[in-house]
Amino acid sequence: MSNAELEALRAELDDINLDLLQLINKRAELVQEIGRVKEKQGVNRYDPVRERTMLDLIESSNEGPLDIASIKHIFKEIFKLGLDLQEGDHKKALLVSRKKKPEDTIINVKGELIGNGVPSFVFGPCAVESYEQVASVAEVVKNKGLKLLRGGAYKPRTSPYDFQGLGVEGLKILKRVADEYGLGVISEIVSPNDIETAVDYIDVIQIGARNMQNFELLKAAGAVNKPVLLKRGLAATIDEFINAAEYIMSQGNGNIILCERGIRTYERATRNTLDISAVPILKQETHLPVMVDVTHSTGRRDLLLPTAKAALAIGADGVMAEVHPDPSVALSDSAQQMDFKQFDDFFSEIQKPSWVTV
Ligand code: PEP
Ligand code: MN
Repeated sequence: MSNAELEALRAELDDINLDLLQLINKRAELVQEIGRVKEKQGVNRYDPVRERTMLDLIESSNEGPLDIASIKHIFKEIFKLGLDLQEGDHKKALLVSRKKKPEDTIINVKGELIGNGVPSFVFGPCAVESYEQVASVAEVVKNKGLKLLRGGAYKPRTSPYDFQGLGVEGLKILKRVADEYGLGVISEIVSPNDIETAVDYIDVIQIGARNMQNFELLKAAGAVNKPVLLKRGLAATIDEFINAAEYIMSQGNGNIILCERGIRTYERATRNTLDISAVPILKQETHLPVMVDVTHSTGRRDLLLPTAKAALAIGADGVMAEVHPDPSVALSDSAQQMDFKQFDDFFSEIQKPSWVTV
């Protein structure tokens, strides 16, 4: 075969490629049109019966030389492209994404603006144990000019025999302390049934790592007018984390704070592995404020300060850490909560701007 012949065949191939390209795009346009009609009719976009009919027609019309399994494979991909395009409007622009809303979401919790460029701090005990215990922490927090307090009334524990929290009693303690000290309180809610009650007592609903994909809880939190602090699941990817936030926002509540709290890896030196790069990724991908919980991500008191510095240096909007008047007798997480002296040292260090070189 001469070179000229080869070139001619190649040119023919190029033409076919371009024809295929045009046809695939034309098909995609048609699929989009069908999608719009279906949306008006309120019918499901994906129709497996219709897909089967199309595949059957293709199979019966295939004259080769390509075998039908390969042909079907290619067409399935083309079908999928069309479907993705139909759903693209939803998929490409999640409500929580920056594509949808380029400007930062700032959340106002009792005057504390989370996500406004000034770091926010959330301190408080792991669990609410008594009025006196919470009030003593509130006093220290308030004296530092801080506005937010945390404390768990419902504690999702690994063992059912461990302290499970005081429940509504704990919420009442938090409310009393919040009112007395003028603080905003953050507390975890573990059941969708408790959301309605909780909104009367707390200022931010926390959804814990173990419940990040409790979709009914996410939907219930999304249906109320109360900020939500959503923690990343123990083994959740960033994509799953973002989608969990989308569950909340899809119900109408866009006041969501994302909280990186470490993920489970093979590393045993820390309780979890703080995925510090998740912070800028979440900031890029979403418009939501991002916090870092240094207590649960490290499980080590000696790492609270360096990880908190890292969090702020990499662009986190805030830091959460646990403080207890007497950690050694705490009913949960006694190993890593700070006592008041350690808290003083931690807070004065984290406020020094000298370590930030950027
Ligand atoms: C908590 O913040 O009290 C808590 C239990 O954290 P996590 O859900 O991140 O484990
Ligand atoms: Mn804890």
